[in-house]
Amino acid sequence: MDLFQMRDFDAHEQVVFGYDAASGLRAIIAIHSSALGPAAGGCRMWPYAAVEDAIADALRLSRGMTYKNAMAELPFGGGKAVIIGDVREKTPQRMAAFGRLVDSLAGRYITAEDVGTTTTDMEQVARVTSFVSGLPRDSVYAGGDPGPKTALGVFLGLKAAVRFRLGRSSLEGLSIAVQGLGGVGYPLCRLLASEGASLKVADSRPGAAERVCRELGAQEVPAAFILAQEVDVLAPCALGAVLDARSIPALRARVIAGAANNQLARDADGEALMRAGILYAPDYVINAGGIISVAHEYRGGATAAQVKAEIEKIPGRLTEIFERARREGRPTSAVADEMARERVAQGPHRKVA
Ligand code: NAD
Repeated sequence: MDLFQMRDFDAHEQVVFGYDAASGLRAIIAIHSSALGPAAGGCRMWPYAAVEDAIADALRLSRGMTYKNAMAELPFGGGKAVIIGDVREKTPQRMAAFGRLVDSLAGRYITAEDVGTTTTDMEQVARVTSFVSGLPRDSVYAGGDPGPKTALGVFLGLKAAVRFRLGRSSLEGLSIAVQGLGGVGYPLCRLLASEGASLKVADSRPGAAERVCRELGAQEVPAAFILAQEVDVLAPCALGAVLDARSIPALRARVIAGAANNQLARDADGEALMRAGILYAPDYVINAGGIISVAHEYRGGATAAQVKAEIEKIPGRLTEIFERARREGRPTSAVADEMARERVAQGPHRKVA
């Protein structure tokens, strides 16, 4: 395997492999770009079938973080860590070994939680390095679990997409399918239900959908059928690459607005969505609420109210992308990528309008 020839390699600045025999840690940290500041992005724990899959994920996710941080106007570059393994194998020792790996990069990479890791894990990491965020906080200051903040940003962004594509200012009576009911999907469902949306939900984890049905009156759909539901909006909140040449022709939603990172399997899938008349809210723009919280926590001094005000800028950014995409007849994903690359090229001293 030649890392530099991999499809997902995109001039990444650094890729670090970490192994700790005592705890069983096998981890990869990818730093895509530090042009706008130290690389920030979460740590995913996942039982990858092959090391190549873990590397590809780290490469893809870290590039996504460069774009996400740039679009959220944060003074951070893009990085991501993956720990290879099942979450049931997680131990404080393994998280501490991961923390030492992060520390060895001397601040070039700042970690936080992602799929498979929690605030408790980040507390373990924080015992050995200061280059970590997403730690428990009281309600006044920025910080804590980023999931609910991501959910808030997705909720506000979803409403902006609905306004743009469906001309509706309320979600009352709209049908919304939510794939994945974890740290983001579950609080998102609560917000959607509070506005009167009718929910169809699926999760591969036993009991997760049942809870949302019981608490919010949602309808459970088998996980294999959630993407193709006849709904107004589809919110992918599980894993990436769910929108591809096989799933797109079967979609029945008019808007896609969800939290999952890297929802498009390939760039060409953005074009396919546009041709199908589906408005796609670029993932790294709509799901930036968590990193906005994590970044403010890391820099220190910001209140939860200030973080909320920053998250409330997400719908405006999306609308700008939607309008430019319509004007230029291009996919929203391509427009967002272009805007993100422009911001990175301008460097950290770009004037924010
Ligand atoms: P999570 O692990 O808490 O939840 C994901 C859920 O999806 C789990 O309940 C899992 O069982 C379910 N799932 C997995 N595969 C599925 C499938 N095929 N069908 C149905 N359900 C499936 O993760 P999370 O923190 O909620 O994050 C969800 C997505 O949002 C991820 O792609 C993540 O990278 C992205 N994201 C999360 C944050 C955050 O703040 N947590 C921020 C930005 C982006």
